[in-house]
Amino acid sequence: MPIDAPSPPQSPDAKTLAEWDHAHVWHPFTQADEWEADGPPLIVDRAEGCTLIDVHGRRYLDGISSLWTNIHGHRNPQVDEAVRQQLDRVAHSTLLGLAGTPSIQLAKRVVERAKQIPGDTPPCKRVFYSDSGSTTVEVALKMAFQYQQQLGHSKRTRFAALSDAYHGDTIGSVSVGGIDLFHSIYRPLLFDAVRIPCPSQPDPQIEAECLKKAEALFESHGDELAAIIVEPLVQGAAGMRMHSPEFLRSLLCMARDCGALLIVDEVATGVGRTGTFFAMEQVGVRPDLLCLAKGISGGYLPLALTLTTEAVYNAFRGPYTKHRTLFHGHTYTGNALACAAALGSLNAMEQNRVIEGLPPRIEALTSALAQLPDVHILERRQKGMMGGALLRHNRPAEDRIGHRICMAARQHGAILRPLGDVVVLMPPLVMEPDEIRQLGTILSQSIHDILG
Ligand code: PMP
Repeated sequence: MPIDAPSPPQSPDAKTLAEWDHAHVWHPFTQADEWEADGPPLIVDRAEGCTLIDVHGRRYLDGISSLWTNIHGHRNPQVDEAVRQQLDRVAHSTLLGLAGTPSIQLAKRVVERAKQIPGDTPPCKRVFYSDSGSTTVEVALKMAFQYQQQLGHSKRTRFAALSDAYHGDTIGSVSVGGIDLFHSIYRPLLFDAVRIPCPSQPDPQIEAECLKKAEALFESHGDELAAIIVEPLVQGAAGMRMHSPEFLRSLLCMARDCGALLIVDEVATGVGRTGTFFAMEQVGVRPDLLCLAKGISGGYLPLALTLTTEAVYNAFRGPYTKHRTLFHGHTYTGNALACAAALGSLNAMEQNRVIEGLPPRIEALTSALAQLPDVHILERRQKGMMGGALLRHNRPAEDRIGHRICMAARQHGAILRPLGDVVVLMPPLVMEPDEIRQLGTILSQSIHDILG
């Protein structure tokens, strides 16, 4: 494994940092016993391009874009410069009662982009800022609910969501989520969603069956729905489950016909991930609410946007005494540094023609998945730069095969993180095709290390 220069002498040494981590940091989605048993954590100290570098100077390809966020690699000069310039002006001021230069510019820019989603209804025109995928979904749910109530549709209090959905970790977003392992313990706290079956692969026959069931559900519950929420084309956290644009188009049209608003959660799929800026560009239906986070700041800073239409916004107008205000807003809403990073990232995307440069990278991802050993792979799943392979093995879930394969990948120089038995390859959008194929080689070696 290539070794880089160690971290500067003034930082605590690697051993001390590891001890402090075990003593003080509670890691997300991580079992504490396993974390400690795995030994000293891999501590990221810095990065170059698509490579993360640890405190010992070891280098790792960032095979999951730092949890599906990174677009340009790390330390992109254009995004770095945009953040630095904003630091020289102001890091943060509130959007409660004030406006800010970067949040205005970013809203304008993203709204212009959203107009390119084809469809025969008006495009999203308003942006509400928050700071994570979960909060952008939470905001969309509250907007949809309050919209329906303020229009006098008092019966419309429910949400339809897809089976195996994942929309975040806050109570509202968990309520519309469908991953039992993550969510079942919170069941007593959650509201009940109308659950629509969703295929794991774009198989026309399975999709037709799901649509039939959806039709029946809309028939019995259509007039109770405030909105339907979907992850368009790819259900990421469920293990890169895919459906076709045609399936989604039919489903959304049915939902709209029965008076539900359409919420599309593009937290994972947005900003070029599926080969177009928004996945919805491939579907051809304009949503009433669109959720963005993760990649919108280029993978730099926590930032989320809930976009909506003028029709939804107008339902919140009226004299103050009518209490039609959306009583929601997070402290760091519209943070200037995060918005500046997003503007810098969008500029870099355009100047470097990142989306136009995707086809050879998407092809490289296809060959990276193809080179995984057939004997251990049950199914390969890919849409654009989102890829996953479902492992074939007879071991119980407690054996944590996916986890162990990803830990083995570190020894070969890549950071990967599985979704249960699905090993994920989701490189930054600018990773060179050779590096993407190298990720495939590393993953193959790691699969052999664990499964033989
Ligand atoms: N929606 C989707 C589709 C996601 O994939 C995720 C995160 N993986 C979220 C929402 C939640 O985002 P966050 O972790 O930033 O709260």
